[in-house]
Amino acid sequence: MSVTLAQSRPELAAIREHMIIDGQPCTQGDGATIPVYDPATGKVIAQQIQAGSKQVDQAVQAARRAFGHPAWRDLPPVARERLLLNLADLVEQHAEALARLETLNNGKLLALSQGLEVGAGAQWLRYMAGWSTKISGETLNVSIPFPPGFHYHAYTRPEPVGVVAAIVPWNFPLLMAIWKIAPAVATGCTVVLKPAEETPLTAIRLAELALEAGFPPGVINVITGRGEVTGAALVAHPGVDKIAFTGSTEVGKLIGHAAMDDMKRVSLELGGKSPVVVLDDCDVELAVQGAANAIFFNQGQVCTAGSRLYVQEGIYDKVVSGLADLAAGMTLGSGFDPTTQIGPMVSARHRRRVLDYIDIGRQEGARLLSGGQAADGDGYFVRPAVFADVDRDARIAREEIFGPVVAAAKFASDEQAIALANDTCFGLGASIWSNDLARVNQMIPRIRAGTVWVNTHNMLDPHMPFGGYKQSGIGREHGRAAIDMYLESKSVCMAYPSRH
Ligand code: NAD
Repeated sequence: MSVTLAQSRPELAAIREHMIIDGQPCTQGDGATIPVYDPATGKVIAQQIQAGSKQVDQAVQAARRAFGHPAWRDLPPVARERLLLNLADLVEQHAEALARLETLNNGKLLALSQGLEVGAGAQWLRYMAGWSTKISGETLNVSIPFPPGFHYHAYTRPEPVGVVAAIVPWNFPLLMAIWKIAPAVATGCTVVLKPAEETPLTAIRLAELALEAGFPPGVINVITGRGEVTGAALVAHPGVDKIAFTGSTEVGKLIGHAAMDDMKRVSLELGGKSPVVVLDDCDVELAVQGAANAIFFNQGQVCTAGSRLYVQEGIYDKVVSGLADLAAGMTLGSGFDPTTQIGPMVSARHRRRVLDYIDIGRQEGARLLSGGQAADGDGYFVRPAVFADVDRDARIAREEIFGPVVAAAKFASDEQAIALANDTCFGLGASIWSNDLARVNQMIPRIRAGTVWVNTHNMLDPHMPFGGYKQSGIGREHGRAAIDMYLESKSVCMAYPSRH
């Protein structure tokens, strides 16, 4: 019996080199093509088209038409719910091909692609599907006294904000696409999604599956290209009502400024430098393993990565050396190899950036306990690095590296731990490791971060709002909070004369 390519390498059969505009494959761009790499080997696996201003305009116009078209506008909420449920089913039916495609393009461990990009992706689609039928306004008991003899009936009507420009990064390509698309379409918005230029492949496939699920053409469009070309044109387009951006704080600030030119709605999920605070009453083994997961999960390419480790002085040496030993023993390799614990960085450029930070850490005088070197071969691998005794003003303690690099320091009192945890311009996540609820509960309100974990780190759920304090962003994803980000509130006030 012969085995076809689609059976033996389903990820290759799922590669698409076009965009999806108005329900159609689009192969016309601005003339530039951008190579897409397998980060484990450095080999080119596809060429993506770059949408120029003409194609961006086509996609936005398609989304605008779809937004006003009765086939979408007049769809009852239960039908939007059904479409999202259909899409979740299709994502699961194509789970293996999607997961393998993500690992091929991003480098992440296949188990992560299966469990998170695809498994959690389907879970998020179903959770947001449920919101379609639960969006409601309020009746308002108003006291308007004029003109005499008149009464009022007032209420609020939540309405979809309109055309959403969704721009996402490369670290969780399929999941992030779903985090934007699902709440947007649950509320009745339409979407133009631009994936990161490093990882466009699963988002294109998702848009194809959305058509198969029954979404009308133009409701979900995917355009590809560089941020400063395609992304910037999308952000500037006057036909866009809202920008939903996930990415670096630097680009988030540019987008926030640009959005204000015509008062586009904007939500920003940005960078982080999240602290892991280990108190001396914790379960030390659990904390060491937890600190390793917090920073090395997905090669540290996680916005909430626990990149600053603060350990109470009595257990500092034990925790830090335990973490260094774990890091030194981690197996580097292809995400397809089930024994791999650390996959490649997403790109050669990003690996260079991570290695540069490791050099900076050395020059700053921090003690490198393990790792920090590039591995041999063509893939973009970096051995996980543990720095100890890092000064609070060191760049590796202040700037987001977005790689497997942790900066550890010790503290004496709970007061010092809180001050260190908050000593950052970011405020995305934080974790506290302790068995003393009284200490933990006194710390939680004082930590300025959008999520505080206790004896765990990086755990998310579709029901749990997620977002940043300070320069980690504006707005919240997931839960009811995500739905609100895609709605306008219209107040309706109706006068009627009194009958008596
Ligand atoms: P990035 O900001 O460089 O790019 C993100 C996206 O924005 C990409 O699609 C890119 O093409 C696009 N872009 C770049 N310049 C643009 C411009 N001028 N106009 C419009 N679009 C533009 O970020 P990245 O390197 O892809 O991702 C890593 C960053 O994302 C990290 O800072 C990380 O913390 C952050 N992130 C945040 C969250 C969160 O939920 N807070 C989640 C994941 C990643």
